[in-house]
Amino acid sequence: MERFVLASNNKKKMKEMRRILEPLGFEVVTVADAGFEPVDVEENGSTFEQNAYIKAKAICEYTKFPSIADDSGLCVDFLDGQPGIYSARFGGEGLDDTGRYELLLQKLAGVPKEKRGAQFVCSICCVYPDGKVIRANGVCKGFISEKPSGNGGFGYDPVFLLPDGRCFAEISDEQKDLFSHRGLALREFAEKMTGKVEN
Ligand code: IMP
Repeated sequence: MERFVLASNNKKKMKEMRRILEPLGFEVVTVADAGFEPVDVEENGSTFEQNAYIKAKAICEYTKFPSIADDSGLCVDFLDGQPGIYSARFGGEGLDDTGRYELLLQKLAGVPKEKRGAQFVCSICCVYPDGKVIRANGVCKGFISEKPSGNGGFGYDPVFLLPDGRCFAEISDEQKDLFSHRGLALREFAEKMTGKVEN
């Protein structure tokens, strides 16, 4: 099984990545599992792709192992694509996941359903010690609900609805992985790795 060090300290993201990649034949370990002190990498890119590359490259240079990063976020049409790459920091350092989605609901207060369109975006990047880079992307379109529901998933899942109205925090893990930006990007990544699709 090919093994990658994950460039993230987000446990819920890690859990999803493992859940999707392990059945496809890829093992994902944390920086600590690989025997190194965890480190924070500054994400100073201006796109999801740039940030995924910055994180994977930094962790590959640090551990000397093939490394994989997921940079993802929620782009809301009414907010001109915000919070986007700033999804994890929306509203500042003081907020947790609930505070961030409550802030989003406040910003969309009174906005009608047809203007509540949004998409989750995920950019995957894998960097090898010899400099080889593999990239993949996934987008999941939907809209923002008027109130939170469900207790599955993480981040903005309680306020994200698929086009059929099902909430990401209410569906099963298997269903989320089937439709999610992360599921799409990681399956494309696996196809590139096995040579089924060109990089
Ligand atoms: P990153 O670590 O900079 O990639 O932060 C991604 C942020 O986007 C997370 O902290 C969440 O707030 C949000 N996000 C990304 N993927 C998901 C998801 O699958 N569900 C809910 N929120 C997500």
